[in-house]
Amino acid sequence: MVSKKIVLHFPNKLVDQPIVYKLVKDYNLKFNILKASITPKEEGLLVLELNGEEKDYKQGVNYLKESGVKVQPLSRDVVRNEAKCTHCGVCVPICPTAALVVDPLTRKVNFYNDKCIACELCIKACPVRAMEVHF
Ligand code: SF4
Ligand code: SF4
Repeated sequence: MVSKKIVLHFPNKLVDQPIVYKLVKDYNLKFNILKASITPKEEGLLVLELNGEEKDYKQGVNYLKESGVKVQPLSRDVVRNEAKCTHCGVCVPICPTAALVVDPLTRKVNFYNDKCIACELCIKACPVRAMEVHF
């Protein structure tokens, strides 16, 4: 048995398709949805934990890729270097999962690691390189 966390990027033409359902039905995989969101470009993002037999897992991931879904392992962690962040807000509209949001009271940018899917979009966007990838 394997248990893996993966990030799926669905192009908008696939967002309404029962792709995850097929993983269960045709590949005997069990899944847990850890996070789900639709980005401003209407791409779907899903973070899943998949459980099943190794061979079913490999075939299931192949099926996803053949369907046009981008599959990325969730092996990295994005963290914020609090000493560097100036709370400029540049990263806020870029983050697809609202892991970076402006606190309405303090006007500071809060980082919610539990929402972050490690897409790394904020890394290049941050002018002071406060967002870092840890392997
Ligand atoms: S872009 Fe960088 S400095 Fe600006 S709020 Fe985001 S993490 Fe902080
Ligand atoms: S890596 Fe950055 S942009 Fe991507 S989800 Fe995490 S905080 Fe948001």
